[in-house]
Amino acid sequence: MKTRKLLMIPGPTPVARSIQDQMGRETVAFGDPAFVKDFKDLLEDLKVLFKCSGEAFVVAGTGTMGMEMAIANTTKKGDNVLIVSHGFFGDRFIDLCNRKGLNADVISSEWGETVPVEKIREKLKEKKYAAMTVTHVDTSTGVCASVAEIGKMMKEFPETMYIVDGVCATAGEPEYVDEMGIDVLLTGSQKAFGVAPGLTMLWVSQKAMDRRKSLGTIPEFYIDFEKWLPIMKDPSKYYATPAVNLVWALKESVRIIKEEGIENRYARHKKYAAAMQDALETLGFKVLAKEGCRAVTLSNLVYPEGTDDAKFRGLLAEEGIMVAGGLAAYAGRMFRLGHMGNVDKHDLVSVIATIERALYRAGMPVELGKGVGVVQKHLME
Ligand code: PMP
Repeated sequence: MKTRKLLMIPGPTPVARSIQDQMGRETVAFGDPAFVKDFKDLLEDLKVLFKCSGEAFVVAGTGTMGMEMAIANTTKKGDNVLIVSHGFFGDRFIDLCNRKGLNADVISSEWGETVPVEKIREKLKEKKYAAMTVTHVDTSTGVCASVAEIGKMMKEFPETMYIVDGVCATAGEPEYVDEMGIDVLLTGSQKAFGVAPGLTMLWVSQKAMDRRKSLGTIPEFYIDFEKWLPIMKDPSKYYATPAVNLVWALKESVRIIKEEGIENRYARHKKYAAAMQDALETLGFKVLAKEGCRAVTLSNLVYPEGTDDAKFRGLLAEEGIMVAGGLAAYAGRMFRLGHMGNVDKHDLVSVIATIERALYRAGMPVELGKGVGVVQKHLME
């Protein structure tokens, strides 16, 4: 019999049966009154859950499209954009902005650390920035940015649109759009929402909608807020075909979130992350992100000296879990483990036990059950 393979990469994350079932439903016309109602209700729920008094958008595409959509609708050629980068995905905004003829300034941290808020403030004072991007959780480093604290500081710079990439955070890390002063929050369906890849969601403040209006016609066609806004107001209208089954899948994910309670979901992610990070450190790995800026959605684990990455991850796959490798300078030196979305206690215990078996088979020093014991203790707290 084959061992089931748990999907523990930092997205896509495990898709619950009831969400899969929505994708297996017979597809209907996007103008079908029942679907139109489902889509409308979903958009309303998204605004309420993430406390956004502006607009919510759900469009077929991936997180990268959400990044591009945020920039395209808030800036014009020649504008200055400040990119606050804590890793690979923060840096992704650089090329994106350069290609659009924007002047991109970047402030970066060492991998595993964050840029101090004071440093961001000083940079913003240098010139007029049309927008600033912050990656809430950079998946390459497992670092979580102080989105709320930065938002508070941004009140001093009302002309700069505060764009937050929530791809690896939204529905796992607390995000309150109005309260945090976020102008555009963007995310994807495949991470803490636990839906298959393929949808981008955005929450947009009234201020950012006004900015979009002031830009007139923009060069981008598919990702224009003004093209999609009438559809978000009335999904029976047509602009470009919505991903009907993915919209249903996201609606089911939102139903699960409401049933759990979003605050409980945030607390669960925090508890699970502490359990996993404690257990993995007990097993000899080092969490890359410094204490105080660690994400709750994933852990990036630096190997003990002498670990063969390909062999270790190969053994993990044989033993039944899929994890991701390190990126850029950390390729071969680290693995990345997702623990977000609809993962439960069974998954946590099983993942740590599987890692212990892989270490054992790799001939690394490990006391079987030691990491599992740590997880169990956290779960009983
Ligand atoms: N931002 C972050 C923080 C991400 O983790 C990712 C994907 N790993 C992206 C953006 C890009 O999303 P996608 O791969 O869905 O285009």
